[in-house]
Amino acid sequence: MVSPTPVITVNRRGAARLRGGHLWVYRSDLVQNVDVPRGTLVQVHDERGRKLGSAFYSDASQIAIRMLTGEEITEERLPSLLRERIASAVQFRQQIAGDTDSYRVIFSEADLLPGLIVDKYNDVLSMQGLTQAFDRDDLRQIVIEALAEHFPTCGLVERVEPHIRELEQLPERQSQLVRGERSSTVLTMNGVRFHFDGLGGQKTGAFLDQRENYAAAARYAHGEALDCFSYQGGFALHLARMCEHVTGVDSSRPALEIAEQNEQLNHAAHRCGEIEWIEANAFDLLKDYASAGRQYDTIVLDPPAFAKTKRAVATALRGYKELNLRALKMLRPGGVLVTCSCSFHVSEAEFLEMLGSAAADAGRRVWILEKRGQAQDHPILLNVPETAYLKCIIVKLMN
Ligand code: SAH
Repeated sequence: MVSPTPVITVNRRGAARLRGGHLWVYRSDLVQNVDVPRGTLVQVHDERGRKLGSAFYSDASQIAIRMLTGEEITEERLPSLLRERIASAVQFRQQIAGDTDSYRVIFSEADLLPGLIVDKYNDVLSMQGLTQAFDRDDLRQIVIEALAEHFPTCGLVERVEPHIRELEQLPERQSQLVRGERSSTVLTMNGVRFHFDGLGGQKTGAFLDQRENYAAAARYAHGEALDCFSYQGGFALHLARMCEHVTGVDSSRPALEIAEQNEQLNHAAHRCGEIEWIEANAFDLLKDYASAGRQYDTIVLDPPAFAKTKRAVATALRGYKELNLRALKMLRPGGVLVTCSCSFHVSEAEFLEMLGSAAADAGRRVWILEKRGQAQDHPILLNVPETAYLKCIIVKLMN
């Protein structure tokens, strides 16, 4: 006997959101108090009983429903649907990810696999289930087996983010190697090499979403460079191929230790400018350097997300402006600023307005060379704005 798939009714606002192409329904837009097991497949209906499709249900998250398909499907169909979705995600990446052995294989909502993230770092895959559904043993097994089929020689690490498990009220689980023997490796993107360790005490890795922006930054980089919020050297190592001298700044000593190891990895392979790593608060350092009259030809700003919520946007924009104002003041004529924001809540329009106002305050005229976003292996699903979060603007100071 197959048990019937539970039905959840959403109100007008929830239904309109889904008809508008979004995949989420918030708990406040569910009609009745639902008593559905966590992480199960549900059928979604509007208040008139019209069918909106099938979704995963969470009994903890504010995002109660994440749509999987506009059709009504049963649990029996789920494994084959997941396998098809994984196969097309893999196929797309193989088509577009050039000059890299590392890319995002599955990007959650954008691949219509809401709650599942899989990254490939050379021969190690890292998977993360962010929802109750993708924490189910049966679904994890399907994903693990499908990944093994597509990437038979790769190790597979399951990475656990404790705060996400808390949000979904999932029991604690440790990050672990779930397949193969390798959990650490060396990856290459744009010809630059990085250490990756999916399980080590000090997590290492690279920001895959910046891969194409690293290459873009390197196209314009020259002279003396300053990379603020350097982490393990993503931009700095790319800049070093084009610049005489690079200063990488980060407040995290462990991150800079890995950055130095990454520098060693690349030293033998190609000509590198000298890199100096400085442990400092980038706000303080920029302030000191700007008032000391220091100048650079290339500056990168890639801070962590300042606006984690909508309410934090105004404060975040002030932070971005302070950084960008100082950076623009320190650029030599013809210099290039690569400025990023990974805050979803700050739109590209707001970010550009901030940058314009920083340029005006600094008394600088700049060209926008490029308006960029996340790499193509992190596709943006139209009508799901949350899948677009990274902004990377490249400007040049006019002579
Ligand atoms: N540009 C990096 C990623 C940056 S992630 C890359 O491409 O790999 C953000 C980094 O900012 C983290 O390494 C964090 O340690 C650092 N950070 C956060 N606050 C900081 C501050 N006030 N000053 C300097 N670094 C900071």
